[in-house]
Amino acid sequence: MPSRRTFLQSSLLAAGAAALPRGFAQIRASGAKVVSTWDFGVPANQAAWAVLGKGGSAIDAVEAGARWAETGQCNSTVGRCGYPDRDGHVTLDASIMKGDGSCGAVAAIEGIDHPISVARKVMEKTPHVLLVAEGAQQFAVSEGFKVQDLRTPEAEKAWKAWLKTSKYQPEINVERRSLPGNSENHDTIGMLALDKEGRMAGACTTSGMAWKMRGRVGDSPIIGAGLYVDDEVGGATASGVGEEMIRNAASFLVVELMRQGRSPADACREAIERVVHKRPAASKELQVCFLAMNKDGQVGAFALHKGFVYAVCDASKQDALLPSQSIYTTDRT
Ligand code: ASP
Repeated sequence: MPSRRTFLQSSLLAAGAAALPRGFAQIRASGAKVVSTWDFGVPANQAAWAVLGKGGSAIDAVEAGARWAETGQCNSTVGRCGYPDRDGHVTLDASIMKGDGSCGAVAAIEGIDHPISVARKVMEKTPHVLLVAEGAQQFAVSEGFKVQDLRTPEAEKAWKAWLKTSKYQPEINVERRSLPGNSENHDTIGMLALDKEGRMAGACTTSGMAWKMRGRVGDSPIIGAGLYVDDEVGGATASGVGEEMIRNAASFLVVELMRQGRSPADACREAIERVVHKRPAASKELQVCFLAMNKDGQVGAFALHKGFVYAVCDASKQDALLPSQSIYTTDRT
């Protein structure tokens, strides 16, 4: 499994070389933009841009980008290769939202490698917003999704190694630490897009916290916690220990702060400060990151700890990866 750094290097190389179709960078989609969390956001944004750059809709773009993250890579924190819960089950969380308020989500779904597409079906085909566990899987099967064993040999090995201590310990930006498999034990792809019609959409998908309790659901499928989008203002998404986002209704908070006139970066910073204010001691030991884009395409981010990066893609550049500012600036990796 590639480390975050190796993955970053190879994805940037790919982006600079032959990854883009001919003429790709020249296609103009005025004002269109897609942003997402972490370094795997670079290729995920490019998958979204393949839709957005041709004048496609924000909702189609974020679904395509999130789908790439779910199966186009193999990392321990999103989709098919996600690490399991403490009982060995891979359970996935995802949500999708349009700027007009339509939204759908699935939580603790098992055996389905594209939870983001199930979330979209929940949005489009049911009167509900959130389906969980067996009910979510049953719905997915009724929509033609196949049930598969998502636990990779690598995830199985890491889980067995973890069982020796069985200590639940969220890690901050884990690269270069000596975890089993030396892989992140939590991350999420949160993605926000603005299309050329000025419509916004967001997607958020994750396998959640590695070694979580069975039945644990994080922020990513909770509208307002891991994701919130409003065409009148902008959107926000989150990564990090989801309990903190849920406690603070954090993505909704970021959007509401932008509604009051804050820039995306200021709004993200204020939300991080709320996390610290509520649990100052805990905040030193866990990572929380916000990413926001307003309806004019201004982008900002803020994190608790150093190490959060976010990817930005528009007509002028498809492989930008930027470091976020943070409250705590000591290097924890
Ligand atoms: N927010 C995710 C969760 O709590 C994990 C992460 O993004 O790091 O499930």
